[in-house]
Amino acid sequence: MTNHDPEIDLTILLMQGRRLKQVYWAVQFTLCVAIVQRIYLDDHSLAYFLAALSLLTTPTYFLTKSGQIGRAANYFLTLLSFGFIYMMWSGQGLRDEAMLVLPAIIVFTALIGGRTIFLPLLMLFCTNALLNGYLNDAGLFHNDITTPGVHSAILVILIISVTAFAVWLLANDMMATTQKLLHETQRVQSSKDEIEKLVNYDQLTGLPNRALARTFYEHSFHKRSKNKPIAAIMFVDLDNFKAINDSLGHQIGDKYLQKIASTLQDCVRAYDIVCRQGGDEFVIIIDEIRHINDASNVALKILDILSHSIVVDGHNLTTSCSIGLSFCPHDGENFDTLLKKADLAMYHAKSLGKNTFCFYDEKMNVEAHENIQLVSDLRAAIVEEQFVLHYQPKYDLSLGRIIGAEALIRWQHPQRGMIPPNLFIAIAEKSGLIQQIGQWVMKEACHTCVNWHKAGFKEMHVAINVSPLQFKRGGIEEVVTNILTDSKLPANKLEIEMTEGLLIDDTETLRNALTNLRELGVTFSIDDFGTGYSNLGYLKKFDIETLKIDQSFTQKINESANEKAIVEAIIQMAIKLDLKTVAEGVETIEQAETIKSMGCTMGQGYYWSKPLPNEDFLSLISAEQNTERSSV
Ligand code: C2E
Ligand code: CA
Ligand code: CA
Repeated sequence: MTNHDPEIDLTILLMQGRRLKQVYWAVQFTLCVAIVQRIYLDDHSLAYFLAALSLLTTPTYFLTKSGQIGRAANYFLTLLSFGFIYMMWSGQGLRDEAMLVLPAIIVFTALIGGRTIFLPLLMLFCTNALLNGYLNDAGLFHNDITTPGVHSAILVILIISVTAFAVWLLANDMMATTQKLLHETQRVQSSKDEIEKLVNYDQLTGLPNRALARTFYEHSFHKRSKNKPIAAIMFVDLDNFKAINDSLGHQIGDKYLQKIASTLQDCVRAYDIVCRQGGDEFVIIIDEIRHINDASNVALKILDILSHSIVVDGHNLTTSCSIGLSFCPHDGENFDTLLKKADLAMYHAKSLGKNTFCFYDEKMNVEAHENIQLVSDLRAAIVEEQFVLHYQPKYDLSLGRIIGAEALIRWQHPQRGMIPPNLFIAIAEKSGLIQQIGQWVMKEACHTCVNWHKAGFKEMHVAINVSPLQFKRGGIEEVVTNILTDSKLPANKLEIEMTEGLLIDDTETLRNALTNLRELGVTFSIDDFGTGYSNLGYLKKFDIETLKIDQSFTQKINESANEKAIVEAIIQMAIKLDLKTVAEGVETIEQAETIKSMGCTMGQGYYWSKPLPNEDFLSLISAEQNTERSSV
């Protein structure tokens, strides 16, 4: 044995000793039977030889007993080898039964004997066979070959039995050893798991501890792609856990912490990590978020859920919590730095009166809270209908009169006054509230347009801005159809303004929606044309009716040759494609004249009118009608 563990070496040695003894007795028994057989057959010389062989092997027994297993095996196997080689030479040479013993000796030597004798024995057996064959061939030696009979059969059976016995014993040993090894490996693995659990997991809650959280964070940090999304580290500290522990005892306190742990896990996605930092502190890693608002939403969810009581052993327990947040890469990339910053932010949240969350960065903090406030205000605004539409006239340049208006939303905030759309549309889109707001706009605009018709302005159309999200969520055809039916507005008096970006994401849902609406009679215009992709292929594909030239071009039309050229090109192209054009943001008479001279269909801008409340818009078109009449 070359290796290593003395205890294992000893076990193997003892086992080998036991086996050697068993094989020794089996061989002795076989020799005795062979001796009796030889005496019976009157083959006395072989009987003596076998008796001598039997006697000569006895030191094996004593050597084994005294623990010298290696030596005993080597002695035993070498002696048997020479003994059987002698028998073979004196018997039938290569055809002698003794030859059968040699392979068994080799197997046994490999498994139990010293490695030092394996090769010499093998070589001995081979040369012996070769020599015997050669000498017989060359006529230098002669082995008589007799016809085999029952006696040879008995001998063969004996040899096979002893060999089988030895090999069976050894194979059994090997199997037992393998099983023992497997069992041992499993035991080692499970104790390794146990140790890992003790080292990496919190005993009370079963959550990962900080060390493991760091490993998770670092692992996912290295995996992150170049255009990394944001990761948030959230430090959650219960506000009045000590009171629970002090008044109801540690046992209840522990159970409460366990429930908090699973509550926190329910608040996050399966691949976010919630870990127990210690005591009543938890750390959450929220990975792969697109916007910091995603993390503040989680914080809000936790604050909300913890505000409800949790039942522990019949006690209704509630504790609020204070949450601090830091972000990778904004506040750092290293776990410990982020954790420290989240911790500081958590203390800030406590200082603000607890039961709230704070970002490490003050600026982010203000924005986040403003956003959250805005989203919740927006929700209220929908319920309380705080929105109004203003209408900006669209002026037909060849007819020289107003032919419709674009509906533009405003929010009459009870505290902050009138809020323009660019301050809340994006938030409404992100929070999904744009669906409801968009529907309200459509309904309101259609009803107003019907009222214009009723007031005698039958040709007026209304244009509404529709967010790409309203298309992407699907079902817009149904909404439009219902509103048109409900308001009784002819479909061709409704125009939908959308941005180029929407058409670029050419999906089947979108194509179906546009086709269905087109079939109803609704028209489409591309808003802010020229600022986006200006992939002209879609204009005809989607049956667009009007291009609204972005105000950034219109406003510089008389100052910059470039802008002038762009507007001219857009108008020319539109004429060729049989599309109408609206120049947006026309503020001066010069701009109005230029676009008219270029062949633009319509104009819209402060030059004619700012967006107006409905009554003012009605007064404007009435006044226009009156001047027309008086001039006729
Ligand atoms: P938009 O669709 O390009 O609307 C034109 C914007 O330009 C309006 O701003 C309008 O007041 C302003 N404008 C019109 N003429 C002139 C001009 O001569 N000079 C200048 N400087 N500005 C002019 P507003 O009302 O603040 O709307 C801003 C944007 O908010 C709109 O841009 C539109 O994208 C969005 N929006 C407005 N209402 C809605 C709505 O109901 N739904 C959706 N999804 N978006 C809306
Ligand atoms: Ca528009
Ligand atoms: Ca526009």
